[in-house]
Amino acid sequence: MKEKQLKIGVLALQGAFIEHCHILQKLGVDTPEIRLPGQLQALDGLIMPGGESTTILKLMHGYGLFQPLKELISRGFPVWGTCAGMICLASRIKNSQQSSLQPLEAMEITVKRNAFGRQVDSFEIELDMPVLGTQPYHAIFIRAPLIEKVGESVEVLAKLPEGVIVAARQGNLLASSFHPELTADARFHQYFIKVVASKTGQ
Ligand code: GLN
Repeated sequence: MKEKQLKIGVLALQGAFIEHCHILQKLGVDTPEIRLPGQLQALDGLIMPGGESTTILKLMHGYGLFQPLKELISRGFPVWGTCAGMICLASRIKNSQQSSLQPLEAMEITVKRNAFGRQVDSFEIELDMPVLGTQPYHAIFIRAPLIEKVGESVEVLAKLPEGVIVAARQGNLLASSFHPELTADARFHQYFIKVVASKTGQ
C-alpha cells in the first residue's frame, strides 16, 4: 500500500518561509504556507522559520494562531523552530536591550537573542552534528540566538567548537539557531521528516 504523503506546514507570517517550502517539496512532502488557525488542523507537523521573532509572535497573536498552536504542541504536535522560530518555541528569552514578547513556552530551553552580535557579525561554520551522520553540516548563522540552558528532557544535537548549544530536540520539538533552509544540504529537513513520520506511525 502507498504511504500517505506527509503534510508539513511552514508558518508564513514573516521571514524565510519559502526556502523551507522548496526543500520540503523536493523531499516529497506536501507543504502548505500557514497563516490562519484553521490551516493547522490537517497538518502532521510545522516549521517556524527564521526572521524576526517579536514580529512573528505579534502576528501569531494577531492571526489567532498562538493559542491553538500552543495547545497542539502540548498534545505532541511536531514543530521545528529555526532561528527566530526557535526563539518562539523557547520557555524563556533572554534579551539585554529590547523587550521580547512572551514565547510559546513549548520547549525547555532558555535562549539568548542576537547572541553573536549584529547583522554584520553573521557567520558560517562546519558543524559536528552526529544525528545527521559523520559528514559535518554547513550552518549559516544570521543575527542568531543561542541556547543558554536546556531542561532535563532536552537532547543537545549540536554545539559550536567553544561549547555553545545551537541545536536541540525535546520529543517532537526541534530547535536550531541557524538557517538549514539556506543550504543545499537537506539532511536536517530529512531528520525532521523522520520525527514527524514516527509520530504519525509511518
Ligand atoms: N535576530 C532575530 C530575532 O531575534 C533572529 C534572526 C533570524 O531568524 N535569522 O528574532
